Amino acid sequence: MPLNRARRDGVSRMLAGIVTDIAQQVLRTDVAGMPLEWIDYREAVRLYHADQVAYDCGTHLYTVFGGYSSFDGERSRIAVNSIIATHGTSQGLARNRDRYVPPLNNRTLFKRDGNICLYCAMRYPTRDLTRDHITPISLGGRDRWNNVATACRRCNNFKGGRKPEQAGMQLIAVPFTPTYAEYIYLKGRRVLADQMQYLLAHIPRSSPLHARLTGHLADGEEIIDVHFHE
Ligand SMILES: [Zn+2]
Repeated sequence: MPLNRARRDGVSRMLAGIVTDIAQQVLRTDVAGMPLEWIDYREAVRLYHADQVAYDCGTHLYTVFGGYSSFDGERSRIAVNSIIATHGTSQGLARNRDRYVPPLNNRTLFKRDGNICLYCAMRYPTRDLTRDHITPISLGGRDRWNNVATACRRCNNFKGGRKPEQAGMQLIAVPFTPTYAEYIYLKGRRVLADQMQYLLAHIPRSSPLHARLTGHLADGEEIIDVHFHE
């Protein structure tokens, strides 16, 4: 390969690495490997630096360079992986994990439903979607995961203050409350294949998300948040 081209390829690869990877969220787990949260590169570097990383897995994302050592003049460098297991206790979480109810917000709700209106079964960009209360609040319905559905504006307007059966409408899927691991997946802005694979192991087979993630992995897709396309 001619030198110029090799150099150009090298440079563009480097730039791509900087631009795409530094924004990539890292999946933090506890020592037992239970997924905890997404962290950004600053927090990841801090954990590595503080010797809080017990082990890492997944793939190498990027290397962050620090200052020069006054001792030997060497520049410190920290290689950050896509999944890091950290020391420290998460006893409270471990105890409550099974009863954990994630906060409800539209971004994760729409992602739970794959940006599909659960009434007309069409896929929409986020801006055209709404949170529908299946049993309306005015009829005693609660603002809870199992009483909310992603709905397009048209379907939501048509349904109005009625229950689906009163409006002659039918849900195409059963609304569910995400588990802790599912909620982490739903919160991820851009989930790499290895992170998806990792989370999948913590998502029950009976979950609709299990099937969806398995499909994405089979297609070799990364899950990129719909906001990034808009
Ligand atoms: Zn609709």
